[in-house]
Amino acid sequence: MAINCLRVLSKIPLSTKPKSPKPHLSLPQPLSLCGRRSASLSLGVVAAVEAGISHFSSMSYDKELHAAKKAASLAATLCQKVQKELLKSDIHSKSDKSPVTVADYGSQALVSFVLERELPTESFSLVAEEDSGDLRKDDAQETLQRITALINDTLASDGSYTVSSLTTEDVLRAIDSGKSEGGSSGRHWVLDPIDGTKGFVRGDQYAIALALLDEGKVVLGVLACPNLPLTSIGSDTKHSSHNRVGCLFFSQIGSGTYMQPLDGSPPVKVHVTAIENSEEASFFESFEAAHSKHDLSSAIAKKLGVKAPPVRIDSQAKYGALSRGDGAIYLRFPHKGYREKIWDHAAGCIVVTGLCKSESGDWAGFGK
Ligand code: AMP
Ligand code: MG
Repeated sequence: MAINCLRVLSKIPLSTKPKSPKPHLSLPQPLSLCGRRSASLSLGVVAAVEAGISHFSSMSYDKELHAAKKAASLAATLCQKVQKELLKSDIHSKSDKSPVTVADYGSQALVSFVLERELPTESFSLVAEEDSGDLRKDDAQETLQRITALINDTLASDGSYTVSSLTTEDVLRAIDSGKSEGGSSGRHWVLDPIDGTKGFVRGDQYAIALALLDEGKVVLGVLACPNLPLTSIGSDTKHSSHNRVGCLFFSQIGSGTYMQPLDGSPPVKVHVTAIENSEEASFFESFEAAHSKHDLSSAIAKKLGVKAPPVRIDSQAKYGALSRGDGAIYLRFPHKGYREKIWDHAAGCIVVTGLCKSESGDWAGFGK
């Protein structure tokens, strides 16, 4: 059995936006995510998940997966372009003092645009991190124009959509499509347009994280990790320059997890590690000490006999790396008062558990 924090931690509470009046409500079912106001993700035992998935197992989300992969890949292209030549004026501060960049907004608008284009007959609900409030202010007009130009350039070089250029108003509208409250019935997309913005600004790891919830269950997840090497990062976060980077992880309920290079080469099925002995395991945690208590994880790792130093990387790229067995454990201990957000775990959760049917016909998680 693989060693994984998902087996150890009984529940990670998820909240929605900090300004939500009642941001945190626990829900009884494991792997249940319900949008902005009531969001709880119990990263518990796979057996408990299996009980509730038979309905979803018979459904195909192929169309939605295709759309999600397309959306996340295009957003990754935009983000890569911005990160390569990041300008000081591209970085802004939100009211909670966290950074937001033109790429966060551009990514959210692109994902929203592509999903609506690819799935025109489905009712569209998107729970996403950003909103257009700050971009509507008078002093933000240059920034808004830069975002609009980035989106139009990305769409034009991709060439999949015959659209006349988007206007700044189209972009504001696309960003605000992400204002859905979600909920436990119907379908809702969940998006972090750049998970790990601090890593993005530093020039390190980040992810575009997109998931689909159906009746409160995560049924599909896509993680685009433009800076993650295609080969294992093991216990070494500083990859050598000849390592190719850019991974797209995806998982649909019933099908396990796959990884594909962002350049479009064919996907391969991935599996979590088979390591049984915690002494041989390595563990992942946030790069940012403000996001997780490093001293606590180090004490736990010591008790487990883990010998390898922690692998500290930003964002849900951790879930992607775990899903292909680069490490065995993910430890995350936010400081007091912080509530996890639905978009920070929904996609990563299904990517790492990779629910699929085993040869015996039973449901199995963790890529088995
Ligand atoms: P990571 O790189 O794993 O730390 O995850 C990045 C995500 O952590 C960001 O997208 C934020 O949503 C989230 N985050 C921001 N502030 C905190 C905090 N104080 N504690 C825990 N997570 C946070
Ligand atoms: Mg995030």
